[in-house]
Amino acid sequence: MTDIEKRIIKYLEEGKNEVKIFWDMDGTCASMEMHKKKHKLEEGFFYSKRPIKTIIEIMKRLQDKGAKTYILSFCSYNYQKEDKLRWIEDYCYFIDKDKVIIIPRRENNVKVIAEKQYLKAEYIKDYIKDNDIVYMVDDNETTLLGTQEKLPLINIVSPIDFIE
Ligand SMILES: [Mg+2]
Repeated sequence: MTDIEKRIIKYLEEGKNEVKIFWDMDGTCASMEMHKKKHKLEEGFFYSKRPIKTIIEIMKRLQDKGAKTYILSFCSYNYQKEDKLRWIEDYCYFIDKDKVIIIPRRENNVKVIAEKQYLKAEYIKDYIKDNDIVYMVDDNETTLLGTQEKLPLINIVSPIDFIE
C-alpha cells in the first residue's frame, strides 16, 4: 500500500470529514492501449477498453472503508457516454449511479468553458462542500493542475501514485 492510500485511510478512520474521491476513466481505471475497435468515434470503442484491475480494486477498497467514490470523465458524444456507462456497470458496478459524472463535451446542455483544463473543476464544485476532504485522480497533469488552481483545497493524485 502506498503512502497516498495510507493517508486516505487515516482520514477515513478518523471519521471527522467526508472523503470524496473523483476518479478519471481513460488512463486511470481504463487502459489507453490500442483497442480492438479502430477509432475513437466508432461505437463500442470505450466499452472495449481494458479495465485496470489494480486501480479498480483500490477504488473499491477505499469505498468499502467509507470513501465516496465518483467517476468523472469526458467524452465527445452521447453514444460514447452510453459506452462508458456500460463499461462502469461491468467493471465498477459498486459505484452509485448518482456519483457517475460523464460529460459529452460536444452535446448541448454541458457547461461550456474556454479553457479545457478547468472544466473538471466546474463539475466537481457541484459535488463538494466545505470540510470535505477531496481527492482527484487523473493521468492528465494539465487537468490536475487546472483543477487545483480553481479549487485550491483539492488533493491531486496521479493513478501511478497508488501503485507499489
Ligand atoms: Mg485520463
